[in-house]
Amino acid sequence: MNKILCALLIGLLFIGSGCSQSGQVTTTEPPAATTSKPETKPAAQDSPVLKLVKTDVAWKQQLSEDQYYILRQKGTERAGTGKYLNHKEEGLYHCVGCSLPLFKSDAKFKSGTGWPSFYEPIDANYVLEIKDNSHGMVRTEIVCARCDGHLGHVFDDGPQPTGLRYCVNGNILEFKGKP
Ligand SMILES: [Zn+2]
Repeated sequence: MNKILCALLIGLLFIGSGCSQSGQVTTTEPPAATTSKPETKPAAQDSPVLKLVKTDVAWKQQLSEDQYYILRQKGTERAGTGKYLNHKEEGLYHCVGCSLPLFKSDAKFKSGTGWPSFYEPIDANYVLEIKDNSHGMVRTEIVCARCDGHLGHVFDDGPQPTGLRYCVNGNILEFKGKP
């Protein structure tokens, strides 16, 4: 019986040493984990504008019915009914959904379309373009880079220096004049 107990004790000691060895093995794992970290960094750097993500309920609480219809449901205000159509003050036009500055007053021009029009955005990274084949037309939709809100469309019949016309729904813009 004593021999059997001794064998059991020796066996337990081996198991114990086995556990401590496996403990040493886990200490070698962290360096392997750190090598995978740099892989995630370039993806974050590719997106210069941090995304603002909200639930549909939160957007409905924040925005007016008209703003929600345009920004979140890709709606269009009736021509001539939106804000800032004949607005000529110096300043910046921001997205009403997330406050990202989108257009400068310097780039605003009278297009005669019934919607505020600009020949360029403040920064190409702030206004993203998406191909839009809805309503039987081939157009280029423009969206806010931060909140993905629908702004309007961009056409290639604008004035110089770009020849582009950013046709924007005035009701989703918020003007902030120069202090
Ligand atoms: Zn926005």
